[in-house]
Amino acid sequence: MGLNIQEIRNDFPILAEKVYGKPLVYFDNAATTQKPLSVIEAEADVYRRINSNIHRSVHHLGNLCTEAFEEVRKKVAGFINAGSNEEIIFTKGTTESINLLATSLGEHLFSEGDEVILTEMEHHSNIVPWQLLQKRKGIHIKVVPVTDDGELDMDAFGKLFSGKTKIVSVTHISNVMGTINPVGKMIEKAHAFDVPVIIDGAQAIHHLPVDVQKLDCDFYVFSAHKMYGPTGVGILYGKREWLEKMEPYQGGGEMIDKVSFSGTTFNELPYKFEAGTPNFAGVIALGAALEYLESKNLNDIWDYEHDLFEYGMKKMKAVPGIRLIGQASDHTSVISFLLGKAHPFDVGTLLDKLGFALRTGHHCAQPLMDRFGIPGTVRASFAFYNTRDEIDRLVGALNRVGTMLE
Ligand code: PLP
Repeated sequence: MGLNIQEIRNDFPILAEKVYGKPLVYFDNAATTQKPLSVIEAEADVYRRINSNIHRSVHHLGNLCTEAFEEVRKKVAGFINAGSNEEIIFTKGTTESINLLATSLGEHLFSEGDEVILTEMEHHSNIVPWQLLQKRKGIHIKVVPVTDDGELDMDAFGKLFSGKTKIVSVTHISNVMGTINPVGKMIEKAHAFDVPVIIDGAQAIHHLPVDVQKLDCDFYVFSAHKMYGPTGVGILYGKREWLEKMEPYQGGGEMIDKVSFSGTTFNELPYKFEAGTPNFAGVIALGAALEYLESKNLNDIWDYEHDLFEYGMKKMKAVPGIRLIGQASDHTSVISFLLGKAHPFDVGTLLDKLGFALRTGHHCAQPLMDRFGIPGTVRASFAFYNTRDEIDRLVGALNRVGTMLE
């Protein structure tokens, strides 16, 4: 089938913008993706036509809005093949999903001296919540090291388990290097020790098909804004057996069954974890993002992005002074690099003036930067609306910037 890239680009109004009079080249997709018009319109349409608080009203608009919201829960469940709709919890992002788990699951599972296994390539949002639990409960954090190629050291992973291991929490794909981790094998290993696994899918969900039942992960978390959807919406998938055992994360409206000053009983799943008015307009717009992604076919997206990556890698390798960070054999469409002795910030600033949006810095992965002994990288992350021509332009710009910063 293949993708019609020009047609796709036309669906994303922002791609026609100019930056300093130059055509925008948006290569910061790992930070957030752009939104197709259908998503922008879906969110506006909520406010235009059906805006009304959900779940609590008997009136017509309230019912329309609730139905639209719950419809998306079903779509998300279908998208990742969850066992039931009740296993889908809406949060405000991956970060909140992991904080919820480190708090609720943390309280349920951990005693002093217990251990969580993370990896050296985690985003800060899969490190700091566990450090907060460490402060509260005196747990230990064990870390899977990263090899020079930017892959997980799987032998070391196997050796980290002990009778005190309570959770493995690992990113599906590195946001810095694009490494795709062997999460299936990791889940199998952890389950052999009876340890549940959380997968941070923030960088995976829009690149490759995810089937949580096939993976057999216990939790899978991601953000709508990285999958062509709106900001302020996240998803936490959890196996029912776990979600039922966990205490609520936040208290408030909607998550209760009955409240009195002598005590409160909690609502059933998934509402037990959805205190307060959710970002229902955002959730409804996420539904449009899922429809958009499904209309393009994730396998075609994968093929196209993979081709872009291979092309980009070949071209970038020829740029004088370039140092690539992470060369894993299994990877997505992210290229992290340094240019000569130049600071990533200076490279990014000059590229910006030429119309390129790339991310520079530590990418919220400072332990990984320490691992490679670098202050940060410049990161080009491609989406399926990017083109080879844009990569050629970037390579031209990098040659120019390299001479300027020599
Ligand atoms: N995990 C990974 C791997 C990420 O790349 C990101 C964001 O870049 C996050 C977690 C945090 O996502 P959010 O800021 O949407 O909560």
